[in-house]
Amino acid sequence: METTGVTIRDHINGKLFPATCLAWVFILLLLILLWGEHGRHVLSWVVFLPFLGFAGCMLYTIFGIRCSVCRGRISQLVYLPGGGIFRLSRKIKFCPFCGVDLDREVGASEEERKHREGGEDVLPA
Ligand SMILES: [Zn+2]
Repeated sequence: METTGVTIRDHINGKLFPATCLAWVFILLLLILLWGEHGRHVLSWVVFLPFLGFAGCMLYTIFGIRCSVCRGRISQLVYLPGGGIFRLSRKIKFCPFCGVDLDREVGASEEERKHREGGEDVLPA
């Protein structure tokens, strides 16, 4: 088995951090447009654009960032108390869906492949 040196947590955080940062940029842009100097003159559809961007970031975060072993939607754990804001907290040790250690290296191990394909036959032949 080849190892990549990238943990499952790093893999998730590598997607979660830019998506969360971009979502905050859209929120700030929305606030600037709503309460800024030009807020009264901005057309309503212009204000809607940062909202669409924010919604897109949230949808990607919820549906696009998944556990690399079981494909569970793991990114919402950041919304737990102490779960982190931009990244999964170190306090979260395991995937709640499959129980894999988040500090385990991402790799196309035989075990992960079998798990993705619907489990393995654990009974001896
Ligand atoms: Zn999992």
